[in-house]
Amino acid sequence: MKLILLGPPGAGKGTQAKMLTEKFSIPQISTGDILRAAVKAGTTMGLKAKEFMDAGGLVPDEVVVGIVRDRLQEVDCENGFILDGFPRTVAQADALQVSLQKMDKELDHVISLDVDAEALVERLTGRRTCKDCGRGYHISFDPSKVEGVCDVCSSELIQRDDDREDTIRKRLQVYASQTEPLINYYRETGVLIELDGMQQIKLVQEQILARLQAS
Ligand code: ADP
Ligand code: ADP
Ligand code: ZN
Repeated sequence: MKLILLGPPGAGKGTQAKMLTEKFSIPQISTGDILRAAVKAGTTMGLKAKEFMDAGGLVPDEVVVGIVRDRLQEVDCENGFILDGFPRTVAQADALQVSLQKMDKELDHVISLDVDAEALVERLTGRRTCKDCGRGYHISFDPSKVEGVCDVCSSELIQRDDDREDTIRKRLQVYASQTEPLINYYRETGVLIELDGMQQIKLVQEQILARLQAS
């Protein structure tokens, strides 16, 4: 199964990708996670990407396209993958088509999660992420069993630098101008599944699985 999860920051892409990874035993490819790992490791690419990320902007297309192209060649992607947070521009979507064609592969579905702007701000300001395993939580909507501690690996939960209200507003603007056009882009290719992302996590999860099984 070759999937894309599409939606604004805070729509629940990462949350649902984690569920799909377990269900279908295919990797979650999150460009955000890969970039944050590069920032943490202090690589040249990471240092450059950090400036764009801290400002709430997008990292240049050629950087993320290169990351995804290389990642898709790895053996664990043979049976499929879940792209989370990529593509984010029409240029990235075009580049992905070229990469997939070269590998003789095709996308099965693009799952689009729709969520109101105010709900997104509430979700992102309350988001907490495990600093080691990357599992996401929300202080009210999906809390960990023990405050500040990851249920899975007992590491510390942290708040992302870019989950501050001013940066969030900027990211939502960037989403509207650069990424939202991809909804039409994929609608035209007939692979789009549109879901109401305002519902509870479990309901969104059930609907994704139902739609994937129906097609
Ligand atoms: P969120 O889960 O809030 O949508 P991500 O973790 O996917 O955020 O991304 C965090 C930041 O990393 C983005 O704001 C952007 O700066 C950068 N980034 C991630 N994916 C891409 C991409 N496909 N193209 C450009 N920049 C990206
Ligand atoms: P994205 O990867 O699209 O940026 P996340 O999956 O990280 O989004 O979710 C953003 C925040 O909202 C997290 O704190 C997560 O726990 C919470 N969340 C995700 N889906 C829902 C939902 N359906 N209802 C309420 N909160 C949600
Ligand atoms: Zn953890």
